Amino acid sequence: MGKILDGKAFANLRAEKLKKQVEKLKAQGIEPYFCVINIGDNSASKVYVRTKKRRAESVGIIQKIYQLPKTESEEDVLALIDKLNADPKVHGIMVQLPAPEHINVNRVLERISPEKDVDGLTPSNIGRLWQENHFVEPATADGIMALLDHYGVDLEGKNAVIIGRSNIVGKPLAALMLEKNATVSILHLATKNLSEYTKMADILVSAAGQANLVTKDMVKDGAIVIDVGINHVNGHLVGDVAFDEVEPKASMITPVPGGVGPLTVEFLMEQVIKLTRRANGIRE
Ligand code: NDP
Repeated sequence: MGKILDGKAFANLRAEKLKKQVEKLKAQGIEPYFCVINIGDNSASKVYVRTKKRRAESVGIIQKIYQLPKTESEEDVLALIDKLNADPKVHGIMVQLPAPEHINVNRVLERISPEKDVDGLTPSNIGRLWQENHFVEPATADGIMALLDHYGVDLEGKNAVIIGRSNIVGKPLAALMLEKNATVSILHLATKNLSEYTKMADILVSAAGQANLVTKDMVKDGAIVIDVGINHVNGHLVGDVAFDEVEPKASMITPVPGGVGPLTVEFLMEQVIKLTRRANGIRE
């Protein structure tokens, strides 16, 4: 039986601490202020943006949403980012992805000031992450690392296998796990035989976005399984892992929902506070 890694409870615990940090900042006259730019009407994005706003408000962070029409020109998005970069009351900026096709996402992300880059997706922050000189970490990856640490998992010398190589999950998580001396493999759609790699995993992370991708025959006995996937199947939210059959083989496993999802939102707020502190010269 796999021990359930309760991301929701851990996120709530962290949120209580964060609330106190926010109160301290406010007592010094500092109002943490976070801007989210959402372009277009992707329904999942709108839900994510609202979830973040609720979480921000619950810990005392001001979150402003810039909801732009899907026809918004790239120039106008860049001009908005320039304005927010220059505004001293703004501590964090993020662009909700995906963006409409006419928007060059790399150009838009690069425009965000690295000092206000909540998602850690500007080239300089990605570079710093791989140089083990982090300024800010992508929230999902940071949350997974903290969850493993919370449950006493030591990555040193372990085989970590990550399915998915996106800039927001797979790659930053690989950098963070490598830094903890895990031996990291990143799998993707061109990987020939997934299970050949997954069976070697002491820690298996799936961030592919495909329901039932990870089945029990792909997992070694006693593995730690982290399910990042969010999939909607017959009106239900499920991960990438066939939970019922994998859970008995795993030593630890995250559920969906209630695993990685709540951590992402919590750690996003933690990045906002980290950037707010730095902007005000407050040491961690
Ligand atoms: P992307 O679509 O950007 O990346 C998916 C990655 O998975 C790609 O690298 C892709 O390979 C790989 N992949 C997809 N299917 C397979 C497969 N069958 N075999 C091997 N590799 C595969 O997604 P994201 O990283 O943005 O998100 C991944 C999942 O995690 C989604 O379900 C998303 O909703 C969820 N998510 C959940 C979060 C949370 O808080 N719980 C936060 C962020 C994301 P290739 O590169 O070759 O295309």
